[in-house]
Amino acid sequence: MPKKNDKDSRPRSMATRLVQAGRDKSITGQFVNPPVVHASTVLFDTVDDMLHRRQRYQYGRRGTPTSEALESAIAEIEGSESAIMCPSGLSACAMALLASVSAGDRVLMTDSVYGPVRHFADGTLKKLGVETVYYDPRIGADMAGLITDSTTVVYCESPGSLTFEMQDLPAIAAAAHARNATVIFDNTWATPFYFRPLDHGADLSVMAATKYIAGHADVMLGTIAGNGTHIRRVREVHGNLGLHVGPDDMYLGLRGLRTLAVRLDRHWRSAVTIAEWLQRRPEVAEVRYPALRSDPGNALWRRDMTGASGLFALILKDPDIERAKRFIDNLELFGIGASWGGFESLAILTHPKPARAVVPAPDGPLLRFHIGLDDPADLIADLDAALAGSAP
Ligand SMILES: *Cc1c(COP(=O)(O)O)cnc(C)c1O
Repeated sequence: MPKKNDKDSRPRSMATRLVQAGRDKSITGQFVNPPVVHASTVLFDTVDDMLHRRQRYQYGRRGTPTSEALESAIAEIEGSESAIMCPSGLSACAMALLASVSAGDRVLMTDSVYGPVRHFADGTLKKLGVETVYYDPRIGADMAGLITDSTTVVYCESPGSLTFEMQDLPAIAAAAHARNATVIFDNTWATPFYFRPLDHGADLSVMAATKYIAGHADVMLGTIAGNGTHIRRVREVHGNLGLHVGPDDMYLGLRGLRTLAVRLDRHWRSAVTIAEWLQRRPEVAEVRYPALRSDPGNALWRRDMTGASGLFALILKDPDIERAKRFIDNLELFGIGASWGGFESLAILTHPKPARAVVPAPDGPLLRFHIGLDDPADLIADLDAALAGSAP
């Protein structure tokens, strides 16, 4: 008879999978959670056992019960054959790219890509003889016109960093696959709870688990999920570079995953309430948040995603950067700092324009908000007071 945690005969929703995944009894034993194994050396009973690798664990870098639990949980929610852990979200993005290109190749990358990935492509990939060409995130099926014989990777991120454009992944992937290009999709914003990239045509799904998976602003972690040769190539490069994530961070990633469904539901509901309130304010020119009816990406968001996270952007009517700074500095419940996806609320001032190659970014300052788990009424009161206090 199969052990209780290993039974898997009835349909399970994503919320249930988040609770059950990665809890194979061969990993956890009689406990609910896996052990946090701190290990470099793994001991063998005999020389022959070591020579013939006759045991499940060989060496700390190559896997422990802690890493197995997290990797199998991520693979299950991504719907992939396997998943690989990286020391940060950026290292996961860079690894997926590095594993999928050779010298002479061309990468097509969304112009709305996370800034440090652009930096990796324009610097490190270029030095290795790989050219990166940027495309309009809203290109959809017109992607077919950009792909050449040397295009081996199409890189997507949706919605886009800072500017929140939605991408038509199925249309982009169809064009890419017609020419045998690999599609990499950065899914940090929606997470597999609201969108599973591999089900919509991506070959590799990448996430900064630093954000919503860990969820508490205390861990750096990246994940890559995929099938067949795509994920095997990543595993090869990942192994060659000797990458490894410490067991405490992996444990915290797994702990965060358990509450992802309830946290995201709250982030989403509060963010919609607050974004709609901001839209009605006379000081506000535009709110960029695909979950809003008014957002240009709303139709794609409703077609493909089953929910939204708590990150959006705002453009004020007043282009005066000092006014925008006063607004953010006046906030009491929103921290000022990089990253997002934790339980707390954040507000930052950004200027995407200098980074864009194809699509012009908004002229004025862009304010990015992460709506945390605070009571939305308190956050609105805070925003109200800070806006009033920022008036010239
Ligand atoms: C934050 C982020 C990353 C990088 O993650 P780190 O864990 O900070 O390295 C990559 N992609 C997107 C979309 C991000 O928001």
